[in-house]
Amino acid sequence: MHKKPNEILETYWGFTSFKDSQEKIITASLEGRDVLALLPTGGGKSICFQVPAMMQDGICIVVSPLIALIQNQVTNLKNLGIKAVGLSGSLRFEELSNELDNCVYGGYKFLYLSPERLGQELIQERILQMNVNLLVVDEAHCISQWGHDFRPAYLQCALLRELHPAAPMMALTATATPRVSDDIRSSLDLIAPLIQKDSFSRKNIAFKVVFEEDKKYRLKQYCTALKTSGIVYVRTRRLAEELSGFLLKNGIKATFYHGGITEKEKRKKLEQWLENKVQIMVATNAFGMGIDKPDVALVVHYQIPDCLENYFQEAGRAGRNGDNATAVLITNPTDKEQVKKQFLSILPDVSFVKLVYKKLNTFLQIAYGEGFGTTYPLNFNVFCATYQLNSMLTYNALKILDRNSVVALTESFSKKATVFFKIEKEDLFRYIDEHPKLKDFVKTLLRTYGGIFEHDIKINTVLLAKKLNIDESVITKGLEKLATDDVIDYKGSHSDLELTFLVPRDDDRTVNRFAKNIMEQNTLKEHQIAQTLLYIENNKVCRSIQLLSYFGEENSVACGRCDVCLHTQQTPNNLKLDKERITKFLTTQNANSRTIQRALKLENRLVLIVLQELLEDGILIINDQNQYQLV
Ligand code: ADP
Ligand code: MG
Repeated sequence: MHKKPNEILETYWGFTSFKDSQEKIITASLEGRDVLALLPTGGGKSICFQVPAMMQDGICIVVSPLIALIQNQVTNLKNLGIKAVGLSGSLRFEELSNELDNCVYGGYKFLYLSPERLGQELIQERILQMNVNLLVVDEAHCISQWGHDFRPAYLQCALLRELHPAAPMMALTATATPRVSDDIRSSLDLIAPLIQKDSFSRKNIAFKVVFEEDKKYRLKQYCTALKTSGIVYVRTRRLAEELSGFLLKNGIKATFYHGGITEKEKRKKLEQWLENKVQIMVATNAFGMGIDKPDVALVVHYQIPDCLENYFQEAGRAGRNGDNATAVLITNPTDKEQVKKQFLSILPDVSFVKLVYKKLNTFLQIAYGEGFGTTYPLNFNVFCATYQLNSMLTYNALKILDRNSVVALTESFSKKATVFFKIEKEDLFRYIDEHPKLKDFVKTLLRTYGGIFEHDIKINTVLLAKKLNIDESVITKGLEKLATDDVIDYKGSHSDLELTFLVPRDDDRTVNRFAKNIMEQNTLKEHQIAQTLLYIENNKVCRSIQLLSYFGEENSVACGRCDVCLHTQQTPNNLKLDKERITKFLTTQNANSRTIQRALKLENRLVLIVLQELLEDGILIINDQNQYQLV
């Protein structure tokens, strides 16, 4: 060992000090101890295993549940100049074998893989040959059926132990109730581990539940009053687009983000938001990974989330810089009734999962016993329409197939097009002479795809765009032009999901393997929804205390800033009186909170509470001079 942990941290990451218990965890791991780290989202869990791995010879093996997560982490490491490899879904045997060789001989420091990969013999053999310094199970709650994201394949993580009994193991998660952390510990067989649980308390966030008939109006109030960045979470793509349009119409710079937009659009929208060109991101839960913007002062949940784990994680994107922030769930009684019906009616039962699996095989023309290891794009909407399947229910069925390692699901978005030339070569050359603008494009098309005169050929518009160094939309336009001129037959189609089949088709038997698990998971989901509704209804206990106790943290103190705390501290009568006084004062002049506080001799905190409520009620706005002004 040459360098100290903090030197490694600074050399590679450029950070000057460790956060919270990072150092304690790293020290334990370097001593060869197993660790179970329960740190909040954004708490810097990756550093906990990446630093010790960089300090020792050999490679660190990391199990992570999603291809997207793996890619994200591997890219980050590569950007830091660290050799890392991720085994994603669709590697051919040779590629896979090469990558594994790199891990055995090539001085690679990190191997990321999905739990399914651990089941492959080839991989086990090679892992055995590797000089492993640390075994890591990230997002370790996936190993527990009591977690909100149980993936049975995670149980295979225990295999790592058998392959390298001497290497220390580290399990990390942000969302573990006591039951889940017990499960992690025993499933991974952690030996006398350091169990490090940092408080999940987020003192600078005011958690609020607001009942409101006119939710849009209330949303507008919150967004108008906001100075910095905000996120609004919704549950459907349609609503994300609708609300973003609504905010835009009301003069608020907003955009939307969900699984149905292209990667390019996603990047663009994210960038606009990160650079504060757009203030509010209205998003589904597709907007999550790697969102680490420090100055988010508002996270709104416009619909009831499906579990408190997800709620806390999403709300926790507020106030990363330590400034005061608000996380508000806007709801009304209709919502609650809907949620009960909605959530429970979109839990697929065993026979529905079987149905979807069967239709999927038919739709993608996979024969019995086939399909293993192949990746297919899937146009989700067309799939649902073809078999008249409810889309939410179907999506959840796909998720179940994903969770149980039947398929690996990626939300992607790409345009696949099929092209066939309807005219003879000679006529085509005459045509491009008349349309010189299309010349390069057509030539590239012919060069890239042989046989295009004989039959329909699937072309990749992204690839063509890259080759020609032009925008993909120009390609699409070119194709459309050729089609209108009757030169080609052109069918464009969208696909927004990608499926890799992890097992050969075995019809009902495929699903029977985890039928019991589907039923148990449905019961758990019902329980989680009930817990969420309890949280919403309970206006007697501080929101922060409620959330923390859900994650097993007892004896936390009241936050003093959530809706419950504010109302118990202030009798409604007092508040009303102060509201009237402040409103009256503002009829004479616009003022900032300090001026108001001095003029009326009120306590500062109280003034801020009242002003916030008046803002939310739409009675005040903040003007250009940063003063409060009556509407
Ligand atoms: P988690 O997995 O716990 O959600 P990450 O490991 O993704 O969190 O880290 C969250 C963010 O915190 C990242 O942007 C990371 O670079 C940053 N971070 C981690 N450790 C430190 C540190 N010691 N100093 C400054 N920033 C840090
Ligand atoms: Mg992480």
